[in-house]
Amino acid sequence: MAKPNLLDLAYPDLAAELAAWGEPAYRADQVWGWAWGELATDFGAMTNLPRDLRARLGEAFTLAGPVPIARQGDGEGTEKVLLSLRDGQAIEAVLIREDGRRTVCISTQVGCPVGCPFCATGRMGYVRDLTAGEIASQVLHFARELRGAGERVTHVVVMGMGEPLLNYDATLQALRNLNDPRGFALGARRVTVSTVGVVPGIVRLAGEGLQVNLAVSLHAPTDALRRELVPLAERWPLADVLAAADRYASATGRRVSYEYVLLRGVNDRLDHARGLARLLRGRLAHVNLIPFNPAPGLPYQPPDPDAVDAFRRELVLHSVDATVRRSRGVAIEAGCGQLRGQRADGALEQPS
Ligand code: SAH
Ligand code: SF4
Repeated sequence: MAKPNLLDLAYPDLAAELAAWGEPAYRADQVWGWAWGELATDFGAMTNLPRDLRARLGEAFTLAGPVPIARQGDGEGTEKVLLSLRDGQAIEAVLIREDGRRTVCISTQVGCPVGCPFCATGRMGYVRDLTAGEIASQVLHFARELRGAGERVTHVVVMGMGEPLLNYDATLQALRNLNDPRGFALGARRVTVSTVGVVPGIVRLAGEGLQVNLAVSLHAPTDALRRELVPLAERWPLADVLAAADRYASATGRRVSYEYVLLRGVNDRLDHARGLARLLRGRLAHVNLIPFNPAPGLPYQPPDPDAVDAFRRELVLHSVDATVRRSRGVAIEAGCGQLRGQRADGALEQPS
């Protein structure tokens, strides 16, 4: 049997384990600080621990993270990496350098069970959930890389492969571990979780007492159109999704953002914009318009740039805040599973 990964543990579990070994209470802080603060990949490096404790930790646990097997940069500071997991499955993570921000976009599942027809990840089907350690390790991977340049990860967006609220426990554990001030200490307000609209997950997240930002993928102003684009909409209609998002906003005081992928001739007309404005009017909301990012096999076209501008203007005219996420937008650069797709085409450079 493979050793458990220390990064899968919550702090209280680590503390309980070390207490069971007869270690003093402060050891948990030390080990946690090495793993999550110093980003150690090896127990031997934990030089303030007694040698026998280091050896015992190494026998009981591993700190090994996913291994990069391909990389792709855009020449402007955005870097995608394909990471190979313990069982040979692969996921993507992306670093976006923008002004002072260093944002990492992470995956929560291998594939996705939701199956949105415009999404490369959705088209590949669902393979498995990631563990908490596998989710957090994507951030640690880039944090190690940035450390070389004296930089830190400043923001995390959960917008890569998979639906985070369908892998709720592992996602929350990963975010709590990254947030823990004894280690990585990433502020919750610097984290955004994007969901396709899993209502019970949004309600649960509202009760966590964690001030992460919520992004809800809407993509359509009516249930009929949304059901074509988001298969889960059968289960949770727009009214329920918006009610859950309102609950999230009032519980956390955070403005919810709504994502809307623009697909030419499908959901990009002015009457769609007006319908969306009617839905959102009066809410503490912000719309992120994402022009469709094409990938092989996806049966949609990017919208006309004029239609994108007109759509945005129509929202603003109806008092709904909206931003177009162009080439540097997270969802576009992360491409939701598109790194894997490109590798299948042989188009990716291999790491040297
Ligand atoms: N499952 C979650 C988070 C991952 S997808 C969700 O759906 O919200 C992150 C964002 O990328 C979503 O808003 C999704 O709609 C968007 N996206 C997926 N495929 C895309 C594509 N081909 N072009 C543009 N945006 C896409
Ligand atoms: Fe899954 Fe999100 Fe892609 Fe839909 S858009 S298939 S929910 S990852």
